[in-house]
Amino acid sequence: MVEVGMAAEATPDHILTSEYASLLVMEFGRNPVVNDEAAFDIYPSPPHAEPETLPLRPPVVTIMGHVDHGKTTLLDTLRSSSVAKGEAGGITQHIGAFSVTVGPTKNTVTFLDTPGHAAFSAMRARGATVTDIIVLVVAADDGVMPQTREVIELIKKEGDKIGVVVAINKIDKPGVDVEKASNALAAEGLQLETIGGDIPVVPVSGLTGKGLDELVETISAVAELQDLRAEHDGKVHGYVIESKVQKGLGPIATVLVLRGTLVPGIHLISGQSHAKVRVLQSPSGASVKSTTPGNAVVVSGWKELPSAGDEVLSGPEDDIKKALANRIRKAEIESSMVDLEAINEQRKQDRESRELEEKGLDPAAQGGQEGQRQLKVIVKGDVSGSVEAVVGALSGLGNDKVAVKVVASGVGDVTESDIMRAQAVNGMVVGFSVKIPRPIEAIAAQNQVPLYSATIIYRLLDDIRERLVALLPVTI
Ligand code: GDP
Repeated sequence: MVEVGMAAEATPDHILTSEYASLLVMEFGRNPVVNDEAAFDIYPSPPHAEPETLPLRPPVVTIMGHVDHGKTTLLDTLRSSSVAKGEAGGITQHIGAFSVTVGPTKNTVTFLDTPGHAAFSAMRARGATVTDIIVLVVAADDGVMPQTREVIELIKKEGDKIGVVVAINKIDKPGVDVEKASNALAAEGLQLETIGGDIPVVPVSGLTGKGLDELVETISAVAELQDLRAEHDGKVHGYVIESKVQKGLGPIATVLVLRGTLVPGIHLISGQSHAKVRVLQSPSGASVKSTTPGNAVVVSGWKELPSAGDEVLSGPEDDIKKALANRIRKAEIESSMVDLEAINEQRKQDRESRELEEKGLDPAAQGGQEGQRQLKVIVKGDVSGSVEAVVGALSGLGNDKVAVKVVASGVGDVTESDIMRAQAVNGMVVGFSVKIPRPIEAIAAQNQVPLYSATIIYRLLDDIRERLVALLPVTI
């Protein structure tokens, strides 16, 4: 932690580092601009002058819809069919994205299978539009439900930039009425082809596989109208879809390539991590020679674990190293700024508690906006995609009286230091799809740190909501 007070050590003939100078500037409420060689970073290449001359690329598709309407089943069936056709007998791993090729045209479609909405919003929040087409899945036997409406709202907002296909699912069930389901969607304002609009509707069964070839072909037809093209030469530009540490390979990341060609040996930067690409692997673990735009691949060779949603860029080794040093320095300055804010906030709270105590009142509120109690949470998850999803979902909970504050998050099992950290802030630990070793459970119990393990996000949210309600101040 850097306190600005340290800058007072500078004598008149003392040269301030850019960090201290920046802190001083920030103390006066201004934004520092550090203009030296270290301010170097690498950026995506400018748009191509003649985009219509570039090769076509596969569309990137996100499947969305209400819980239990069959998104996971649909993706599982598509994923296994993609491997069955490509490599006989291959077992697919979940890597966050996979490609399917169908029909006489042999067009390829790439599906993202990170937790749908969360992955999409994490990248949208960073201003990245990696999804070309949304497939809205609606179970024919259940119809329009709350999360269906959320997706419809999103489509209405983004519809001009993003292609849309509706999949009416579970048509294998007896007595289901596809027309009724599609009329209900039209009544919500979706411009379906059936009523003269441009959104195609495909009846499918994720369970039996019926209609899935038609679904992929329809997606391909929508993509053709979008005329998605990207250059294969030049710098690589893409996004991290998922990342984790794998035994024998170290940190690995699934990278969705949007421009350029990813090959072993090139240098990449993503957030504050960099890589000399060691091996490229398909979802079935087969090694791949190169990956072109519109496709995803598992990349090993990272020095640190990159984060899901972060941009990936290639460049000469020296440029990547300079950019990395610069990003790390910038992050240090930013965290000093956060430290300063935290110190000021703590001082304010201490002052307020003293005032309340002097008046004989209970200073129980723990941070946050005035009078708001916070449930402080440390989140650990199996892959960065699920950590992002849980952090995103938890951060939205609460109101002006009580709210969740995620104080730390990361990929990996729950450790003793997570428990200690939670104890220090009087908070709790949430592990999502990770192991909680017995000794860690014991340490949590000894230190009275609530420890919650979950594999289903909505159950987790229900439980946390209950804890928030319990935190609500009692009013008589
Ligand atoms: P998600 O929450 O949208 O990912 O839904 P899931 O894929 O987990 O499916 C929820 C339930 O519906 C599971 O019990 C599935 O077996 C079932 N299901 C999914 N797709 C179909 C389908 O096409 N037909 C039938 N009959 N059941 C399905």
